[in-house]
Amino acid sequence: MKRRLVIGNWKLNGRLAANLSLLDAIRNGLSRIATGTQLAVCVPHVYIPQARAVLNGSAVAWGGQDVSAFGEGAYTGEVGAGMLVDLGCGYVLIGHSERRTLFGERDADVAVKVKRALSAGLVPVVCVGESLAERESGSMADVVLRQLNAVIEHCGVGAVGRFVVAYEPVWAIGTGLTASPAQAQEVHALIRARLAEVGGPVASRVPILYGGSVKPESAARLFAEQDVDGGLIGGASLNASDFLAICAA
Ligand code: PEP
Repeated sequence: MKRRLVIGNWKLNGRLAANLSLLDAIRNGLSRIATGTQLAVCVPHVYIPQARAVLNGSAVAWGGQDVSAFGEGAYTGEVGAGMLVDLGCGYVLIGHSERRTLFGERDADVAVKVKRALSAGLVPVVCVGESLAERESGSMADVVLRQLNAVIEHCGVGAVGRFVVAYEPVWAIGTGLTASPAQAQEVHALIRARLAEVGGPVASRVPILYGGSVKPESAARLFAEQDVDGGLIGGASLNASDFLAICAA
């Protein structure tokens, strides 16, 4: 059976009072979601204790949006994988396109962070995706596979099955443009095939999420595709009823 997973990415949004309403509404709306669908919210680091306080004991997991490439020591401002584990995080987003484009994260940095997260016992959500220029120049597959291969090469084939992949075309993130179900399926199948090539049968159980302007209206058609196992949801995860409707889809 398909493993279904929907993760909310709050990005740099939220304040204590608003978070409480949002988290409460998500927790209270879970009866609408089919059993077997896993939910998580990746919140700003400082709000992880709040997410834990509200979600503990519910079916919703929580996580961070980034992790340090370092273990511990003189790295001012960094948050380590072990610290996320201490706060009960299950997941951590790594290599989101905003980290890659705005903060200069390279494939090699992403790979090191994934290894750190795995060693600490977190489930990394490895974000990959091409820009519009890369898609239009015909290099979508090269870009996505290059990003994925960097992780596999650094973490080893044994890591396949221990991370989630999120395919997020950069041109669809926060733009209102969603990949068509067929476009998403094409890339998800490519990712699955690469995972199977190196990892074997375990590849069929790796959740491959689609992200990029998913809305309640577009979710069901995207999630109906064979290799789309759920979503990574940005803007719509800040609205409980939209997020729950996407999860229900
Ligand atoms: C994201 O930030 O991962 C994302 C997919 O954002 P949005 O849903 O707003 O496009």
